[in-house]
Amino acid sequence: MTAESTAPRPVWEAAVLGRPGPDGHVTCELCPEACDLAPGQTGVCAVRRNHDGALQTSTSAASVQHVDAVERKPFFHVRPGGRVLTLAAPGCTFRCNYCVNHRLSQYGRDAGISWTARPVQPADLVARARADGLMLGLSYAEPALAIELTLGLAEAAGPDGPPVLWKSNGYLTAAAADLVAPALTAVNIDVKAAREAPHRRLTGAPLAPVLRTVERLRAAGVWVEVTTPLIPSVSDSDDDVRAIARWLAGLDPAIPWHLVRFVPDYRMRRPDPTAPERLRRAAQLAREAGIQQVYCERALGPDGRSTRCPRCDTRVVERGVWETLSDDLVAGTCPACHTTIPGRWSV
Ligand code: SF4
Repeated sequence: MTAESTAPRPVWEAAVLGRPGPDGHVTCELCPEACDLAPGQTGVCAVRRNHDGALQTSTSAASVQHVDAVERKPFFHVRPGGRVLTLAAPGCTFRCNYCVNHRLSQYGRDAGISWTARPVQPADLVARARADGLMLGLSYAEPALAIELTLGLAEAAGPDGPPVLWKSNGYLTAAAADLVAPALTAVNIDVKAAREAPHRRLTGAPLAPVLRTVERLRAAGVWVEVTTPLIPSVSDSDDDVRAIARWLAGLDPAIPWHLVRFVPDYRMRRPDPTAPERLRRAAQLAREAGIQQVYCERALGPDGRSTRCPRCDTRVVERGVWETLSDDLVAGTCPACHTTIPGRWSV
């Protein structure tokens, strides 16, 4: 047997959100690209195709399958200290120039990246998660492209099974968001810029659908946290930070906002990493705009990672880097003043 014959290859299965058209065409309604695919054609994402007039996906598969902390997704208001069986198949609907996961996410867009995923079965993954007390998460590439796997995991888990989490770019149609919302306990969505032009330059895609997905999933009852990388000249100016903060505070000031440091990677070797002073300033602006929970993973030390009661300022959850050190919440409330602090603390 040659090495070549054992290399993983995409395995294609029926996909959701395909709308049949004339002459065997099918339109994919998963993301706003709305690819109109002739028979034999593959979408912009390279992981969905038209096969004999039916939409197919190759993402009921995983290149990555490992356990890590829920804080690492990052989720700071979902089962503190919980562990997540994290899955990823190749593919993304964005082409971010700084993507640290480009060897996975840019499959089909970057010619040097090969398929590395092997098929997975939702029932097997749920059984493992149940046995080990894990949540289930999709991350590293774009989980929306694995919507069929997500629906399968939620179905296998049932109402009392492991929660399903996404770390997503939020680039979904309304139909896709509505379809997946009942399957998701929580989602962390990247809002990578405040304005359309820099967002398009950075990701290759418009910003507006991302904001609509945040709004739609939250309205559907999914727990939502938001992450913004502070990228010099893209998203780190005072005006940019204020614009995102005001939009988020207008939606719900209790939505946790993670401000993360930009680190040069992939095609973006400049500028330098975000300075801690910039993160500190952004966190201050976010609080001034009314955001109750603003987080920075590392650059601002333990204070940047703690959850404090928005009413009496008692520290209710203390975190290290990607771990929970202490959780003093009492049934989701502050132990000092009994204010409810929104989250999915005990899923
Ligand atoms: S998910 Fe893929 S195939 Fe579907 S519309 Fe988006 S880019 Fe096109």
